[in-house]
Amino acid sequence: NTFAEIDLGESLNRNIQRCKYVRPTPVQRHAIPISLGGRDLMACAQTGSGKTAAFCFPIISGIMRGQPVQRPQRGARTAYPLALILSPTRELSMQIHEEARKFSYETGVRVVVAYGGAPINQQLRELERGVDILVATPGRLVDLLERARVSLQMIRYLALDEADRMLDMGFEPQIRKIVEQMDMPPPGVRQTMLFSATFPKEIQRLASDFLASYIFLAV
Ligand code: AMP
Repeated sequence: NTFAEIDLGESLNRNIQRCKYVRPTPVQRHAIPISLGGRDLMACAQTGSGKTAAFCFPIISGIMRGQPVQRPQRGARTAYPLALILSPTRELSMQIHEEARKFSYETGVRVVVAYGGAPINQQLRELERGVDILVATPGRLVDLLERARVSLQMIRYLALDEADRMLDMGFEPQIRKIVEQMDMPPPGVRQTMLFSATFPKEIQRLASDFLASYIFLAV
């Protein structure tokens, strides 16, 4: 049971080797095949479980291997990411960005991060250079959507990290607004992964609103 046995694509497998990840953690062992198989996923995972790689690997692999996409040219200043990773805090977003960047090295997949509490200009410049995977906090993303600097119309992968913490911080209205802006493609086109340490009723409601017949994973 090693990463070498999971076909994530040549360059991603090489990056995993470079980072000296040999064996998947339990959440990775189960979540990665489920996501590669195209199913939506709701996973119970704590910090330190390796959940970041569990949602990043299938996203990077899927974008690498997907059909080349033609992004709309409506206003060159609007960015059209293919994947969105939502996280509650600036610190967590920075960590996810770091991890996703390491693993997308030489894959052609570009990762950009946008969080609040920091000047927006640098983030806008990064977005203008193109983005495949956007890592963002909900408040800053709503700001970018209102400025029409980001469109969610091409999103194929959505990951919500530490969803319970995002709700505790009062981000539910922003999260709902964000998900509403994703085009309603035929069922199964947008793949969604919801990670949470706990599963109160509010999280179960998010899951039933955002996920298509999903697999529940508790490790
Ligand atoms: P996370 O739970 O995603 O924050 O990951 C916790 C820490 O474990 C991070 O420092 C990761 O780089 C590391 N890590 C995650 N998966 C693996 C793995 N399969 N092998 C070795 N280290 C890992």
